[in-house]
Amino acid sequence: MASHCSLRSGGLAQDFFTPNSIQALADFLSTNTQAVVFVGLGSNLLIRDQGFNGVVVKLTQLNALSINHSTISVSAGTTLAKLSRFIHSQHQYGGEFLSAIPGTVGGALAMNAGAFGSEFWQYVVQVQTMNSSGEVFWRSVDEFNISYRQVTPKHADEFFVAAKLAFNTEKSDQDVKQLLLKRNASQPIGLPSCGSVFKNPPGQYAAELIELANLKGHCVGGACVSNKHANFIINQNKATASDIENLITHIQQTVKSKFNINLETELIII
Ligand SMILES: Cc1cc2nc3c(=O)[nH]c(=O)nc-3n(C[C@H](O)[C@H](O)[C@H](O)COP(=O)(O)OP(=O)(O)OC[C@H]3O[C@@H](n4cnc5c(N)ncnc54)[C@H](O)[C@@H]3O)c2cc1C
Repeated sequence: MASHCSLRSGGLAQDFFTPNSIQALADFLSTNTQAVVFVGLGSNLLIRDQGFNGVVVKLTQLNALSINHSTISVSAGTTLAKLSRFIHSQHQYGGEFLSAIPGTVGGALAMNAGAFGSEFWQYVVQVQTMNSSGEVFWRSVDEFNISYRQVTPKHADEFFVAAKLAFNTEKSDQDVKQLLLKRNASQPIGLPSCGSVFKNPPGQYAAELIELANLKGHCVGGACVSNKHANFIINQNKATASDIENLITHIQQTVKSKFNINLETELIII
């Protein structure tokens, strides 16, 4: 899975499926008996070195986008960069922050991805889900518990296949170029990472705690804490998933012993 995850690390998947339509996905799932993991761009995902004993379903071929009376319909494999450009072309506003997040709509729904004070679910009208038997449902926002980088469905065992979104019609003053410049100045963009590894604890910044614990530049095997942004782990030199996980544990233990604060990972580890 190293080639499907932005950390460029991770073990093998038993099976791999890239559907080119929702119907093909439904047909596949209706006969599938293996465990399933959905992935988008793998920009928040690490598969352990031992691999995943099941099928990885990558949705990037499901990337349709349309608009009807200002409601945007988007398939789950659409990248946030493409969605952001589409929103802009339709003279809608509020989606500028999406251009700074490498990922797909499915990943953003699963993670409640956010940046610069905005979060994905703020703009969700409805989502289309599919269960592991291939049945499709339309779900409303109140069928999910939504919080900071966490979304818990009230109906377990369903994956996102599409969404209807509504952005603002009033012009916003967020400038995409400025947002990206701001981001590039503070983050090690271009190096293999998963963005922020840890959630910010209430009232604190994970990066600040890690920096105060003198962990900037600290490495385990080929995995290192970025010198530019302490909440980023970089795959500096052929890091294994174990190197990355051991570094995560070391950071958590050090921050706990120095500040008595538990750092919870934003990164999904399978
Ligand atoms: C350089 C960099 C910067 C980043 N900056 C930010 C940021 O500012 N804000 C932010 O929130 N995140 C950030 N991230 C993390 C990441 O981009 C987001 O979490 C993004 O939403 C992940 O999308 P993805 O499609 O790559 O999901 P993946 O990494 O492929 O998957 C993430 C999780 O979502 C699940 N999932 C994926 N698709 C589906 C689906 N269709 N249905 C159900 N579950 C699904 C996966 O199983 C996994 O649990 C950054 C990452 C990088 C590398």
